[in-house]
Amino acid sequence: VSSVEATQAHLDRIAAVDGELHAFLHVNAGAIDQARAIDERRASGEQLHELAGAPVAIKDVLCTVGMPSTSGSRILEGWIPPYDATPVARLKAAGLVPLGKTNMDEFAMGSSTEHSAYGPTRNPWDLERIPGGSGGGSAAAVASFEAPFALGSDTGGSIRQPAAVTGTVGVKPTYGGVSRYGSIALASSLDQVGPVTRTVLDSALLHDVIGGHDPHDSTSLDRDWPSFAAAAREGAAAGDLRGLRVGVVRELDSDGIAADVDARFQEAVQLMTDAGAEVVEVSCPSFAYSVAAYYLILPAEASSNLARFDSVRFGLRVERPGQTVEDVMGATREAGFGPEVKRRIILGTYALSAGYYDAYYGSAQKVRTLIQRDFDAAFAQADLLISPAAPTTAFKLGEKLDDPLAMYVNDITTIPANLAGIPGMGLPMGLGDDGLPVGLQLLAPMFEDDRLYRAGAAIE
Ligand code: GLN
Repeated sequence: VSSVEATQAHLDRIAAVDGELHAFLHVNAGAIDQARAIDERRASGEQLHELAGAPVAIKDVLCTVGMPSTSGSRILEGWIPPYDATPVARLKAAGLVPLGKTNMDEFAMGSSTEHSAYGPTRNPWDLERIPGGSGGGSAAAVASFEAPFALGSDTGGSIRQPAAVTGTVGVKPTYGGVSRYGSIALASSLDQVGPVTRTVLDSALLHDVIGGHDPHDSTSLDRDWPSFAAAAREGAAAGDLRGLRVGVVRELDSDGIAADVDARFQEAVQLMTDAGAEVVEVSCPSFAYSVAAYYLILPAEASSNLARFDSVRFGLRVERPGQTVEDVMGATREAGFGPEVKRRIILGTYALSAGYYDAYYGSAQKVRTLIQRDFDAAFAQADLLISPAAPTTAFKLGEKLDDPLAMYVNDITTIPANLAGIPGMGLPMGLGDDGLPVGLQLLAPMFEDDRLYRAGAAIE
């Protein structure tokens, strides 16, 4: 198929189903022209990337020239960035065709996409259920065949958890493996951009395109990464896990994991054993504090990052004659931020305030170190760690919306990886008792993302 045919087919699919799903906030009006340009280059004999011409959906957290980038917020409504985020620039350079921007919880705060200022996305498996979050739009687009590839961002699970509840594959790379330049910051020490796809190999191919050193991001790692696609192809060809030590994290498979999710997980453990892996149990006692530490560190960093939305630099401005600068800022932030964003700004500024800094932010940073040490100890016993990717299958829209704590504890399985900076993958492991997808999580040591692809492709 030509790029025009592939792109048109996906645009048709979006036109047919997105009225109900609402995975997209913006559809790229230039997609067909861009696809045609790729077809012409290929016809003229130019050697193009393996993925050139393939359509891709982009989470709205990423800056895109010529397309609005709102991060799911009213405060950025209609804002069109003057530059592309590095992962987007790299996709375009490889010849992929952006289909549009996908829906997300406002500023990537949430686990259900219900905190989007533009209304929720629905799960294609059951329209009454959430598609996960914050990147529910990218996951729903891939799961519903509106897009074959998508980009997401993962600060506390926003790639892996939506993958789990929509039956797709998603990867949070090693911190620093993919540039954050042009990714609208939530929590800078936790954020990573990564792929969302239907197969492990597709995620690997996309990761190869977007990853690698970028001088525009001071936390970008300058190192030689192996080909993740080669790792996935090796894993698929081997089809087994012989020689691999797999650690089951006791603390991530206990309280709060639904019975059907646990049942699928035990089957996955058996499947990995049958595939030749040596399965051991590991313990990471500090994970008990990971959600608490994350929900201090994240709001602290977010409250600082969101200070740039001051009614002057970007987007919305609410003003009336005679008002002071402070009035305009206050009125703009009052009108432009939704309730979850305000909640986290208040939490973050409180945690950072003079009298409380040591007690809250300081303690949370110590927990972060303990979690890293737990991972170090676990990876001394195992090459790869596994757990359920999310504690339950997709919950109902509205079910946790009025209960922030219930929404937060839902992130228990994914948060430790962000706090430690290590790479993680969410991939399908069958269906729950309700017929909805259940996700498996694979975790690898820092820099060893290729292990996720080799093992993921072997058991897929
Ligand atoms: N659910 C988490 C949160 O609300 C994850 C967010 C994310 O990864 N962007 O913070």
